[in-house]
Amino acid sequence: MSFKQDQAISFYSLPTVQQRLEQVRASISRAAYRARRAPEDIGLLGASKSQPVASIRALAALGVCDFGENFVQETLDKQAELLDLALTWHFIGRVQSNKTRSIAQHFDWVHSVDRLHIAQRLSAQRPAGRPPIDICLQVNIQNEPSKAGLSLEALPAVAHAATELKGVRLRGLMAIPKPSSDPQQQRRPFAQLRAARDQLNAQGLTLDTLSMGMSADIEAAILEGATWVRIGTALFGPRPSRDTGAIASTDGV
Ligand SMILES: *Cc1c(COP(=O)(O)O)cnc(C)c1O
Repeated sequence: MSFKQDQAISFYSLPTVQQRLEQVRASISRAAYRARRAPEDIGLLGASKSQPVASIRALAALGVCDFGENFVQETLDKQAELLDLALTWHFIGRVQSNKTRSIAQHFDWVHSVDRLHIAQRLSAQRPAGRPPIDICLQVNIQNEPSKAGLSLEALPAVAHAATELKGVRLRGLMAIPKPSSDPQQQRRPFAQLRAARDQLNAQGLTLDTLSMGMSADIEAAILEGATWVRIGTALFGPRPSRDTGAIASTDGV
């Protein structure tokens, strides 16, 4: 085979956004079927950090309206180019105190609230006239030193206090477990997060959300009750490196 043909074949065999979305939707349906859950009860959130606006547009045209971002400025830049679309923006990155005002103004959800102080700031800084911002508390379910999130021990007091805040609505819990290639191992931390949510509800809270599951563990998360899955690479393809300036490029759609 000549070099030219080789290149052409590998180019045309790259999956499109549409093909990736079909595969992700098929995984969601398969897992929902196994779990005897309605596929509509599992929200698909495109984890679009460092992905180009054109990919978001392509997904929006195919019916994906929820996008999760990790960096505030990157999100504002993207939102400015997507004003014609009715999208729901989720903050899923580490929340710094000095970014809460901007997050409260420009996002609909925050999945990664990891201390009461952040919930209090989001509540106080939510613009008047807008509904409370939906939040999840991030739990560091495996007590990893490098990872954000509340410990299971600290969770109940923070959850009860956050419920009292007027400018936020506590919807549920979020976690990012350690990667594992074993489907049974993958399920364990998700089951623990669900148990923590159920326990809070038994204490009188009304949490309807479990934000858990990424490209590599989507099925395990759905089997354990995920209501939002946050999918990056399986939907967009590999992330362009943040260092190369590729964020603003429109390649790779
Ligand atoms: C990047 C990211 C994801 C998506 O990860 P993939 O493995 O690419 O699906 C999900 N959640 C959070 C918090 C992320 O930062």
